[in-house]
Amino acid sequence: MALFIMKKVINQTILPTSTAGSLPKPAWLAEPETLWSPWKLQGDELIEGKKDALRLSLQDQQQAGIDIVSDGEQTRQHFVTTFIEHLNGVDFEQRKTVKIRDRYEASVPTVVGPVSRQKSVFVEDAKFLRQQTQQPIKWALPGPMTMIDTLYDNHYKSREKLAWEFAKILNQEAKELEAAGVDIIQFDEPAFNVFFDEVNEWGIACLERAIEGLNCETAVHICYGYGIKANTDWKKTLGSQWRQYEAAFPKLQKSNIDIISLECHNSHVPMELLELIRGKKVMVGAIDVASNTIETAEEVADTLRKALKFVDADKLYPSTNCGMAPLPRQIASAKLNALSAGAAIVRRELTT
Ligand SMILES: [Zn+2]
Repeated sequence: MALFIMKKVINQTILPTSTAGSLPKPAWLAEPETLWSPWKLQGDELIEGKKDALRLSLQDQQQAGIDIVSDGEQTRQHFVTTFIEHLNGVDFEQRKTVKIRDRYEASVPTVVGPVSRQKSVFVEDAKFLRQQTQQPIKWALPGPMTMIDTLYDNHYKSREKLAWEFAKILNQEAKELEAAGVDIIQFDEPAFNVFFDEVNEWGIACLERAIEGLNCETAVHICYGYGIKANTDWKKTLGSQWRQYEAAFPKLQKSNIDIISLECHNSHVPMELLELIRGKKVMVGAIDVASNTIETAEEVADTLRKALKFVDADKLYPSTNCGMAPLPRQIASAKLNALSAGAAIVRRELTT
């Protein structure tokens, strides 16, 4: 049923809009404009509060006219950490400081034994979202390579081995999410933009292991990160042309992944790189998440028009560059409206 609805929406609505991931949480649930923000509620109140926030986030997306909706990641403290918290073999008391994506230091938990999933992590949340809407829904999971980069490994002593273990665990979770009615499962792999040799040696292969046997659509999100200072400082060192995508694209084009979600607006990614993934569906980031300036509909339309030179219209999904969790709520809502309005302009151009 859900798959049928999605196909219907996507067949009838060209340029279906979505967000790359997280949306801001309400101030009564977590400290605003903060990553890894601690919860303000506890126990049953927290459980109920997360559900209420999920419904509000969904409503924001619906009022903005977003076509493929998500939970806005309202039930998670962080897109990687919250998943890892539910696994065996990781000790959150033993912390080490590591450099995440070779960029910023963070205190992370330690892998102390074989990793496995105790039980499903997000499936109940996904079922709850499914009950709230008949629109197609997208669910984000961390990718294997990004997961290993957010941990200190004192057991496998091999990034590749640990990534393969996570790929198996993610596959179990993804299959349950599909059964819960999720239409698109997205894996967040910002690490693909940093570790080019590993991406080609085993990163994409691990991602394909994570999607093995799935019938729903699958996506990989590769970006330049949230709009936090460590990332914006890093971006300043990347020069005038950001060609990082070039390393992973040829292999991704040949992979079984259906959709590739990218950062485009206000970044220095040359749009012609999209030619390297011709044939794939592309979620084109037309909203800058590292700025509080609200895009105009015309700016969004302009980004989409540029992408259309390299992406067939039936394969272009207007989206945001990354998650919007660290933004003020009203800014994020206004950016969602801009995304819809910009997509509507180009949709009219394509159909008249
Ligand atoms: Zn991102």
